[in-house]
Amino acid sequence: MSQPDYDVVVVGGGINGVGVAQAVAAAGHRVLVLEKSGLAAGTSSKSSKLIHGGLRYLESYEFSLVRESLHERTLLLKLAPDIVQLQDFCIPVYKTTRRSPLLLRAGLSFYWLLSGLNRNAGFSTVPRRQWDSLDGLRTENLRCVFRYHDARTDDALLTRAVMQSATELGAELQCPAHFWGADLHTTGCQVHYRLDEREHSCSTRVLVNAAGPWVNDVARLVQPEVERLPIQLVQGTHIEVPGEMGDQFYYLESPRDGRAVFVMPREGRLIIGTTETRFRGYPDYVHPHQGEESYLLGVLRHYFPVFQDVSRDNMLTSWAGLRVLPSGAGHVFHRSRETVLYSDRINRPRLLSIYGGKLTTYRATAGKVVERISASLPDTSPRASTSELPLRPA
Ligand SMILES: Cc1cc2nc3c(=O)[nH]c(=O)nc-3n(C[C@H](O)[C@H](O)[C@H](O)COP(=O)(O)OP(=O)(O)OC[C@H]3O[C@@H](n4cnc5c(N)ncnc54)[C@H](O)[C@@H]3O)c2cc1C
Repeated sequence: MSQPDYDVVVVGGGINGVGVAQAVAAAGHRVLVLEKSGLAAGTSSKSSKLIHGGLRYLESYEFSLVRESLHERTLLLKLAPDIVQLQDFCIPVYKTTRRSPLLLRAGLSFYWLLSGLNRNAGFSTVPRRQWDSLDGLRTENLRCVFRYHDARTDDALLTRAVMQSATELGAELQCPAHFWGADLHTTGCQVHYRLDEREHSCSTRVLVNAAGPWVNDVARLVQPEVERLPIQLVQGTHIEVPGEMGDQFYYLESPRDGRAVFVMPREGRLIIGTTETRFRGYPDYVHPHQGEESYLLGVLRHYFPVFQDVSRDNMLTSWAGLRVLPSGAGHVFHRSRETVLYSDRINRPRLLSIYGGKLTTYRATAGKVVERISASLPDTSPRASTSELPLRPA
């Protein structure tokens, strides 16, 4: 049989797609990324822009996810110092807060333990005499304030940096290129896409479906038909309002339903997010709802009376992204955030779809993808290890 055009074709230029491209190219294979709109045009520019362990995932017992995320955080702080920076977070605890100081202390201690007692994951309490320095945070009924560290990033910049690293290793990118179908055959597949208003086609050993919220729309275009995981899309909205604060971010409990909401100052503005609202439409049409914006403004005004005048009228902007969660019963807040890799067959997969995941864990996910598809790929000599490749702003 003749050599296919590529070893791997990736659909989707979000963080997971470019992460897979980087890992595949680093392993010494030929890889092409197809992106229909622009790099990071989907969820990867709509996140909370945190590189974090996910303190709240301790509540749903996702300890291995938290440990893996904390490990990735440490690595990204080292590999991408211009894109990922350490960030202080404050968690105020009031008499009415659902999580008690004891519970939070236990959670933060465990978070520290899972990070391998890394000095970047320790925590402390803010002394009462310093509460006035907390950006006008409401102090009535305040019992204590915890301070811990995580990291912040620019999600789109990170995505472009990873793609740049992949390109330097030989990966190719076609954008805007719209994938519209694939025909599976015994040893691989034929991929069809539209570029410059013309139809193109190429052959590959493996097709990786990294289309984020479009994952099942892409899987539906594969012939013969393949099984798809039942999923639920959940929309998360952020708002941006004018407002000056210091450098610290706030991790708050929504007074309405107890969910975690972040207030994050950036260059004279405040970013507040996020929500979790069921989404039933086509991913291209996700947009913030008025009710979500009011909910987030309510959290800001509740904790920071100094921002009483901030309303939808002087809001600067808002945006929404979509999480991919496994379908199931119960509140989405408690649904697993683990990434699921789903292939058309166990041995020598021709198609592998990535369901869900976090920005933080893209590199670990990509490593698992390469491992899962390795039996379908030729033997090669690796060119690099992604745990050592520096990432620079593209
Ligand atoms: C509100 C919100 C906040 C979040 N905050 C954080 C956070 O702070 N930290 C964190 O670690 N994680 C966070 N996450 C999770 C993280 O953002 C996502 O897991 C991640 O961005 C998903 O990336 P992806 O590459 O899988 O999908 P996407 O970024 O959505 O990429 C999929 C790409 O596929 C392309 N595509 C789709 N169909 C086709 C087609 N037919 N042909 C070609 N291309 C196609 C799309 O254009 C898109 O660019 C958050 C998620 C949400 C929703």
